[in-house]
Amino acid sequence: MSTRGYAAEAAQLIDRLERLARSGEARHGVNPAQWEALRYLAQANRFSRTPAALADYLASTRGTVSQTLIALEGKGLVARRQSARDKRSVDLDLTDAGRRVLVDDPLQELARDLRKGDSDEGLAAAVEVLRDALRRALRRNGSRPFGVCHACRHFQKNASGRGRHHCALIDEPLSEEDSGLICTEQEPVPA
Ligand code: SF4
Repeated sequence: MSTRGYAAEAAQLIDRLERLARSGEARHGVNPAQWEALRYLAQANRFSRTPAALADYLASTRGTVSQTLIALEGKGLVARRQSARDKRSVDLDLTDAGRRVLVDDPLQELARDLRKGDSDEGLAAAVEVLRDALRRALRRNGSRPFGVCHACRHFQKNASGRGRHHCALIDEPLSEEDSGLICTEQEPVPA
């Protein structure tokens, strides 16, 4: 098969897998948009857990995201509080119930199927191909990358000398856990 043929089949497989994964999403009374919001809040850093950043990440409108958040708050899965950095803004957090629901995320079934079907090397190569495709799609759409903090050009590793990191853009300390989270302000280190 040609590269073009493999690429076309891979795109169809991704589309079909996504539909199958979504078919299990009715559990816990959480709809697909609500699952996406819960997943985002579980992996976003403290500067990025806002309604505006969530809308950017999902390439959705503020109004649609607002309805999703109202529903999640009503189910007790998400809580909002006034932002410590900007009194006009709100920050979002998963509640304990939200974290418990995420343990049963139907996307984990897809991850398990992928684990069973391939070697570490095969999966790592597939992830690189998908990351590249995502980067190109984001550039085409003019969307922010929402990359991981430790791969950002503003990330200062072990800035304190005591294992604490620092963000040069926001001028805030970062923990080891923060370094592995995604961020709305992330700018990849130039290649
Ligand atoms: S270093 Fe980059 S990714 Fe990390 S908090 Fe700062 S702007 Fe965000």
